[in-house]
Amino acid sequence: MMNYRPVKAFINFEALKSNLKQVRAFAPKSKILAVIKANGYGHGMTRVAEQLSMADAFGVASIDEAIKLRHKGFLHRILLLEGLFCESEFALVIQHRLDFVIHSEHQLDWLMRLNHSQPLNVWVKIDTGMHRLGFLPEHFPKVIKKLQTLKVQPNIITMSHFASAGESTAFTLEQLDCFNSLTQGMNGAKSLANSAAIQNLPAAHFDWVRPGIMLYGAGDLSTGQQLSPLKPVMTLKTEVTSLKWIEAGESVGYGQTWKATKKSFVGVLAVGYGDGYPRHAVSGTPVLVAGKRVPLIGRVSMDMITVDLTDLADSVQIGDEAILWGEGLPVDEVAKHASTIAYELLCGVTARVPIIEVRAS
Ligand SMILES: *Cc1c(COP(=O)(O)O)cnc(C)c1O
Repeated sequence: MMNYRPVKAFINFEALKSNLKQVRAFAPKSKILAVIKANGYGHGMTRVAEQLSMADAFGVASIDEAIKLRHKGFLHRILLLEGLFCESEFALVIQHRLDFVIHSEHQLDWLMRLNHSQPLNVWVKIDTGMHRLGFLPEHFPKVIKKLQTLKVQPNIITMSHFASAGESTAFTLEQLDCFNSLTQGMNGAKSLANSAAIQNLPAAHFDWVRPGIMLYGAGDLSTGQQLSPLKPVMTLKTEVTSLKWIEAGESVGYGQTWKATKKSFVGVLAVGYGDGYPRHAVSGTPVLVAGKRVPLIGRVSMDMITVDLTDLADSVQIGDEAILWGEGLPVDEVAKHASTIAYELLCGVTARVPIIEVRAS
């Protein structure tokens, strides 16, 4: 069946490849572990992996994502970013030659019990202050000693994760100090930087950088001063499907949250929270209609949103293109208006939205 509903997510392959090159430019001495968990941040994991095949490794959240990549023929190193969720996953980890994180004692116990014959790539995670995953600094040396008693010596990569790489410099530097003092003199590879630190903190680049959001051209560090070299990969588009004038004092949408202060031209766009457009987007959230910024008005519905097109009343027509985010309208800006982050919007595009792959013309 054809789907004539106009909402579509366009995925720009050139932008993906260009963003990977930007990661290399930011961290020229580091290997790149491209993070493609959560279905490639909503862009389609395999599609993204194909475009990023020049990366040195991939990072995923679960073993099924990793196995899917192996089945598609990817021979890259693939890291399970949260490690194993249960001991029985080890059979598949070994069969598919996966790298894995160990962040807690129970995972260490599973590994120590494992009777394996080939060397494993074990990423040992230190909790340098985020207090989510990772061994506490005081336990870390013991963990390393224990790993060194394995029959087959593992290849140990030491890693940690920043809590506020995009915001708090002081705390980020504390985490970096902690990481440096614990790993000083260790031979193995080290990894610390996510997208924000790749762009902000060269001292955190080490052997492996782990870019996620920047590969997708988002995660604006919102200094606004310099133009980001990153290009938006996803552009979410739809069309104008209804136009009408309403009088001053009349309201629009569920709950009548927006009232016209003057005679207003209201446009309906075919996109809603059923597509992943955030229901929390407030009146005033920017939308591009026929290339011009207009404000969202009223509540976001499941399949529709309403916009104030009074300023475009002379020219706008049914079927005109509307961009919800992407080229010309940063997803970070839309996310702010919905009290969230670009990550959530990109991951949240729902399965009913067709993906259109845009290759170089
Ligand atoms: C998701 C993730 C990243 C990528 O973070 P971005 O902010 O998207 O660059 C890096 N490292 C780990 C451990 C992650 O889980």
